Amino acid sequence: MTRILIVRYGEVALKGMNKPYFERVLEGRVKKSLGGLAGADGLKVERRGGLIVISGAGEVLPVAESELIRRVSRVFGVASVSPAVRLESRGLSDISAAAVAYMRDVLEGDGGNSHVKTGGGPVSFKIYAKRSDKSYPVTSPELAAKVGEAVLDAFGPAVKVDVKKPDVPLTVHLRVGEVFIYDEKHEGFGGLPLGTNGKGMVLLSGGIDSPVAAWLMAKRGMRVEAVHYHSYPYTSGRAREKVEELAAILAGYCGAFRMHVVNLLPAQELIAQHCPEEFMTVLVRRFMMRVAELIARPAECTMLVTGESLGQVASQTAESIFVTDAAAALPVMRPLIALDKTDIMDLAREIGTYEKSIEPYEDCCTVFLPKHPATRPKLKDVVAAEARIPDRDELIKSLVESKEMLTIQP
Ligand code: ATP
Ligand code: MG
Repeated sequence: MTRILIVRYGEVALKGMNKPYFERVLEGRVKKSLGGLAGADGLKVERRGGLIVISGAGEVLPVAESELIRRVSRVFGVASVSPAVRLESRGLSDISAAAVAYMRDVLEGDGGNSHVKTGGGPVSFKIYAKRSDKSYPVTSPELAAKVGEAVLDAFGPAVKVDVKKPDVPLTVHLRVGEVFIYDEKHEGFGGLPLGTNGKGMVLLSGGIDSPVAAWLMAKRGMRVEAVHYHSYPYTSGRAREKVEELAAILAGYCGAFRMHVVNLLPAQELIAQHCPEEFMTVLVRRFMMRVAELIARPAECTMLVTGESLGQVASQTAESIFVTDAAAALPVMRPLIALDKTDIMDLAREIGTYEKSIEPYEDCCTVFLPKHPATRPKLKDVVAAEARIPDRDELIKSLVESKEMLTIQP
């Protein structure tokens, strides 16, 4: 009997012809997620019968299971993770004995398995029998009944059966050549393995929304790069550090990535000087799009990604988004477009960016903020206003040329 970690994949399992490719990438991502972990050299990660199985050389895993679970459940494409025991003998009495031993661990809190909280009295359990090897001569109900009986015999009044809401939902998974027994399931985020869906350039501010947008795209398998705009010296060095810290949290999910940092102040000053105040915001956003696109193309990003949500602020009305969108030829992904702010905040909390995002530092958008931004700008009016800015193409080129590039590490 050896302890293992079972890794299930969600949508990857639904893939048709391309499934082996997705599985291979996912396996690679799972391996990578264990990098730098003391003892990880002794781990074997392999694809086996529709699952990824992590095992060690001996009976126990050479790395703390809680840390393995934490890391692997964050890998995009992973639906859930279960610490389990594996036995090679599929005889009924061996399975029963293993289930009893597993239950003993649960009850006595051995083997790091003291996760069951009961209010005293007998611990309830239910045996879930699962048979992916249909040639096994015992049916699932028979198997469950046999194993349940063995557990009741072994523990007497310390346990009881509860088929509705058991404290210990003990699963016996019968597979070709092996049996897995487990009772815990840690949910992952699902999605698709990183690297299976191209690369996008995220417009990353220090706010709540854009990190969530980046995360959602990465969850669909898209690698990301980021561009961040500041208005130094109106915005501080500390504001910029905050964005780097935020980016580092994202890198915890999608690995190291490049971040391009651009000072947008020259553009903002010219817009303020030449254009009607009410168009300030939408014009700045058009410059952001253009600069992002120029950085995106050589970086082989085929999409831009923003954290906009319909109607959230003046620059995110349908009309403003239309005018902003017209500035760039690359498709602009807005994964938050239909989400409420409260939902976005919940997601930010879940992925761990929220606390950093709400640190109060100024953003470049707050510089030259118009008193009454146009909420329904017309494209032709905005384009006419923009035309008053001299040498726009040169300006955009010089903004791109003056950018800095950082590599963000988790
Ligand atoms: P966020 O919470 O992401 O800052 P927001 O609600 O503040 O969004 P806006 O300020 O209108 O909304 O920005 C909309 C989107 O434009 C952001 O989600 C982000 O993708 C991009 N953006 C805004 N400011 C910056 C910036 N300083 N650098 C890079 N991108 C930015
Ligand atoms: Mg913002």
